[in-house]
Amino acid sequence: MTPNKGVHNIRIVKKGGPSTKSERGRTSKNISKESKLPITVEDSYCALCPSVEETADHIFFECALAHRTWECLGVDLAGGSCRHPWLMGRELPLPPSVQYDVVLLIFWQLWKARNAVIFDQEQRSVRRVLRHVVDDMENWRSRYKQHQEHWLAWNSYFSTFL
Ligand SMILES: [Zn+2]
Repeated sequence: MTPNKGVHNIRIVKKGGPSTKSERGRTSKNISKESKLPITVEDSYCALCPSVEETADHIFFECALAHRTWECLGVDLAGGSCRHPWLMGRELPLPPSVQYDVVLLIFWQLWKARNAVIFDQEQRSVRRVLRHVVDDMENWRSRYKQHQEHWLAWNSYFSTFL
């Protein structure tokens, strides 16, 4: 058994279309009902940005909703990367003790907004994303006993945008 054996269950269907007779007439929808799970090139595009590859940085920084969300909060996106979330939002005049946790909550809600477009055909607004972030913060408040005031400071800041 080769280390990549499991990968053989995933086939790539090139944008140019199927090359064999048995593949003609197939779409990503009817192929996905089969036992194998092919991935089309189109599947790797952002659902909102035609022909734009959906990379992690696109989802969390470059796509319009993500970009507007960070911009609304006053977060400097220069050098922003999902590989360095602990650097995001450090310039805001807010307590640094919970900054990383808050940034991860924003990532989480941007991810859920991305999934809402794909699975529920629902486009969320910046305000709705921030509403969910504030709700998450309230639900998680009891877990930040030592930093509750800091947590509340971030929560209050976000609430000003609702
Ligand atoms: Zn996009």
